[in-house]
Amino acid sequence: MQTHEIIKRFREHFERNGHKYIPSSSLLLDDPNLLFVNAGMVPFKPYFLGEAPPPAVRMTSIQKCVRTPDIDEVGKTTRHLTFFQMAGNFSIGDYFKEDAIRLAWELVTGSQDAGGYGFDPERIWVTVYQDDDEAIELWQKVAGLPTDRIQRRDGKDNYWDMGVPGPGGPCSEIYFDRGPEYGKEGGPVVDEDRYLEIWNLVFMQDVRGELSPKEGHKPIGSLPAKNIDTGMGVERVAYLLQGVDNVYETDLVRAVINKAEELSGRKYGADEKDDVRFRVIADHARSGVMLVGDGVTPGNEARGYVLRRLLRRIVRSARLLGVTEPVLVQFAEVVRDAMGPAYPELVSGFARIQQVLKAEEDAFLRTLDAGSRIFENAAAEVKADGRATLPGDRAFQLHDTYGFPIDLTLEMASEAGLSVDEDGFRKLMAEQRARAKADAAGKKTGHGDQTVYRELLEQGPTEFTGYTELASEATLR
Ligand code: ATP
Ligand code: MG
Ligand code: MG
Ligand code: MG
Repeated sequence: MQTHEIIKRFREHFERNGHKYIPSSSLLLDDPNLLFVNAGMVPFKPYFLGEAPPPAVRMTSIQKCVRTPDIDEVGKTTRHLTFFQMAGNFSIGDYFKEDAIRLAWELVTGSQDAGGYGFDPERIWVTVYQDDDEAIELWQKVAGLPTDRIQRRDGKDNYWDMGVPGPGGPCSEIYFDRGPEYGKEGGPVVDEDRYLEIWNLVFMQDVRGELSPKEGHKPIGSLPAKNIDTGMGVERVAYLLQGVDNVYETDLVRAVINKAEELSGRKYGADEKDDVRFRVIADHARSGVMLVGDGVTPGNEARGYVLRRLLRRIVRSARLLGVTEPVLVQFAEVVRDAMGPAYPELVSGFARIQQVLKAEEDAFLRTLDAGSRIFENAAAEVKADGRATLPGDRAFQLHDTYGFPIDLTLEMASEAGLSVDEDGFRKLMAEQRARAKADAAGKKTGHGDQTVYRELLEQGPTEFTGYTELASEATLR
């Protein structure tokens, strides 16, 4: 089943069940805690918080999402993209747990002839929040699931809140069992690919106080009107329904891999290291093009910097596959052709997209070779001294003079079996920022555009806890 058909069936199923279809919002919404929209519910937050009246009490959407914190998983797990589409259904004080479970179950296991996805119900597992006995009973009653395929999880995994006192509630995740060739029997295990998470249902029912149920504390009350927020990964469902091995090989993503095969003359599937590069290119080309399409331009501030990392990583990955000609526009054309039918802004705005990508690639290609030589020399020196850490000043030089985003240097170092003195790097970044500030104060001109990014960098890597913690997306990784 093609991706566009999976999307169509989702929308039709929920429209049939009284939901109003709301088109995807831009990836860029004004939210101080969020660089990019990373879940279907983000544009609906004002309705969930009672700050604005919803256009309907039952809504459905297919939302563009970017999760840069998943970047390190890309190409390595079978299921993580930085750009993906989250299909969701939302109830604002209307139906609750039983109908949310029923609606999801009907679509997932409904026969393909009748508009469903046709998953074998015997291979579906679910997780529920440990205290949510009601969800367990409903999964048994509505879906006929036996208790051994319903697993209780603690608040860390299966409780949702906004990171502050306010609405919260238990989650229930739906998994598909890919079979014994992919791992041990026994149910969903975090970070394993035998049981693939396809859909997350959030039952917004509680008021959380100062302390979160995610850390084992009890909620302090119940919401007067209960809400439903769900998210299904379109590419994950495509991965399963298309009989391929991962999200990168699904119809709309694979198209970019085909192009990279053509340009490099190498074959996908022949070498594991190359395969990771092919997948990284395919993923980053999609997220890069979608971000430029929504108005981001590469730069040194937060959003622009994320985009720059993605684009420069594509260029370098293509190099490693033996391609020396410019690639970004060529990949972008493939993305436009694959995604254009669903996102016409990619077609109408392609002239601008092309221009932005070309400028960025030209700029990077001017320094890539020189920077790579600097890196090679530094790495050789470090190794000759019997050390294993690239000094922070080298990482800083690569960043400052050669435009190497820090994660590119980290990636090159790790390929060379080295680590990087990230603290040293950050210290130099901070010093440079302080100088720029003093300079700006003196000249009364702004260097503002670099500030946000520098602040983020100084905070250092912060763990991303997923859908459940929107606030943390604001950090770089
Ligand atoms: P995982 O545990 O696999 O990282 P998650 O629990 O972080 O997923 P949610 O935040 O629950 O994911 O998002 C809802 C749905 O969106 C998931 O069930 C999955 O189908 C899809 N999804 C989440 N992250 C990604 C991603 N990086 N790439 C593709 N699909 C994703
Ligand atoms: Mg999960
Ligand atoms: Mg989840
Ligand atoms: Mg995740």
